[in-house]
Amino acid sequence: MKIRLLGSAAAEGTPAIFCRCELCQKAKELGGKDIRTRTSALVDDNLKIDFPPDTYMHVLRDGGRMSEFEHLIITHTHHDHFYPEDIRMRTPDFAKDYGDALNIYGNENVVQRCRETLANEMEHFNIAPLQAFTTYEIGGKLITPLPADHKPDEDSFIYFIEKDGKTCLYGHDTGVFPEETFNWLAKRVIDIAILDCTNGLIDRKAIHMNIEAVKDTKAKFTELGVLHENSKVIATHFSHNCGLLHEDLEKLLVPSGIDVAYDGMELTI
Ligand SMILES: [Zn+2]
Ligand SMILES: [Zn+2]
Ligand SMILES: [Zn+2]
Repeated sequence: MKIRLLGSAAAEGTPAIFCRCELCQKAKELGGKDIRTRTSALVDDNLKIDFPPDTYMHVLRDGGRMSEFEHLIITHTHHDHFYPEDIRMRTPDFAKDYGDALNIYGNENVVQRCRETLANEMEHFNIAPLQAFTTYEIGGKLITPLPADHKPDEDSFIYFIEKDGKTCLYGHDTGVFPEETFNWLAKRVIDIAILDCTNGLIDRKAIHMNIEAVKDTKAKFTELGVLHENSKVIATHFSHNCGLLHEDLEKLLVPSGIDVAYDGMELTI
């Protein structure tokens, strides 16, 4: 399984779209791994997780094949993860020769928003609701949505993805995982865990995690016996509010065996 992280920022991006803070100024000067677009991931080129407003920019940056995915799974309806107005660009008025109907999966709110936004073009999309703790076969992979602690008015999901005996936990957006999610994961092995580190050193672990919560989650995984010696734990979805550059994040996380995501990071298991 091949996973490409297309973005690694929280909702506002880094540098943040309208921000003049010190961190954003430094990020502009440094460029490279300090430029973070909104999060999304491409798995094996045929399945995409989330559809942020930066998707068009990701297609320009990464080349045409980036937009040839057949399956789209959505974590929740915050705008940095779900921008259905641009999904509508995959219809005959706006695109030619783009392949079969796109399969879109998510919670009831995702399904509802798709039905509203794509109302006149529904024949170009297959939209299916997902339930937590149910495993679905999607694009040659087994996908299980798990409950997150994130958006109280909808069932936000994180996703457990399996293929050929390899596994990836796509673990954001969420605060410290609900107990039922830990209980489900306790019976699995995780090769790659990608975790929410929005808050950096800010003392907040609900809705989004911080560095301490990411470290605690890794420790809990170790205690549950779900990691092995080659498992990778990766922190992502960083907010400019935490005031930390890529280099700062590496100093805080790498000694604990946690890698720091960046735009374009590729993982193969
Ligand atoms: Zn987000
Ligand atoms: Zn800023
Ligand atoms: Zn969110």
